[in-house]
Amino acid sequence: MYLSFPNIGATPACLTWRRLIAFFVQAQSEGYRRMIDLHVHSTFSDGSLRPTQLAEEAAKAGLHAVALTDHDTVDGIPEFLGACERMGVLGIPGIELSIDVPRGTLHMLGYWIDLPHAELEQILRHLRTAREERNRQIMERLYALGCNLTWEDVKAFAGEEVVGRLHFAQALEAKGYVKSKDEAFERFLGKGKSAYVNRYRLSVEQSLRIIRAAGGVAALAHPFTLELSPSALRAAVAEWKNYGLSAIEVFYSEHTPEQERQYLALSKELDLVAIGGSDFHGAANPAIRIGRGFGSLVVPDEIVDCLRARRPVAA
Ligand SMILES: [Zn+2]
Ligand SMILES: [Zn+2]
Repeated sequence: MYLSFPNIGATPACLTWRRLIAFFVQAQSEGYRRMIDLHVHSTFSDGSLRPTQLAEEAAKAGLHAVALTDHDTVDGIPEFLGACERMGVLGIPGIELSIDVPRGTLHMLGYWIDLPHAELEQILRHLRTAREERNRQIMERLYALGCNLTWEDVKAFAGEEVVGRLHFAQALEAKGYVKSKDEAFERFLGKGKSAYVNRYRLSVEQSLRIIRAAGGVAALAHPFTLELSPSALRAAVAEWKNYGLSAIEVFYSEHTPEQERQYLALSKELDLVAIGGSDFHGAANPAIRIGRGFGSLVVPDEIVDCLRARRPVAA
């Protein structure tokens, strides 16, 4: 009698066992449902999937929320938000602005940008014109260096994307001027090389001001690309917080566990929201998957509410 199942089920030990199983099953299913990705790119910048396809991929991956953060453009957002709504995924309108820094790379993410926003869109138009002018100058310099590319040669590699240095590198390789894209950057296109042309970029202060003016929340992307020591990074981030920085990208495909710990500690110390995303570009970098990065990325959805709470009061 004492071996009968209901009786065993009534013992405290068995209740614990059952609870553990239930908790495990629940954690498994909720774990997938609750993942988010706050950093993905579409064909409107340098990704290979259209905004609609991104929303579909996010739904397939079981993501609860996904933010479109194309480089210096918000043109993909209307399509993205419509597709997210159809797929039952929370779509967050975002952007990733390129910032002028003397060394390294500084990208500023913005979330919940209110569109249309005349001033932001005017700035983005200006950045686009500056980029086109830069491309024209790169072409001229390459010609002077003996590399005769046409605009069609370069554009062929960009497709719908905005033309950038990578497409010049691909065209140089295809035309046989270099053996690889790396060589193209080493000889011609890298910072300080013979065909390198600086382009107009926003300052940190400008980027923070315009993101907040558009009702958005600003987050520093992948801090390691700033190439700063931990103490210099801390000083810079503390200063930017005074200009309106609200968050820092802590969970990121390419962060080492040590970097993740460092940035998490920094976010706690400076009261910034610790956010995360894959920087998914589709076929441009097939090793990175939406929501999962290289496979171990986990960005919990509690972050959405923490981040949203930092929106400017007037928004
Ligand atoms: Zn970036
Ligand atoms: Zn990015």
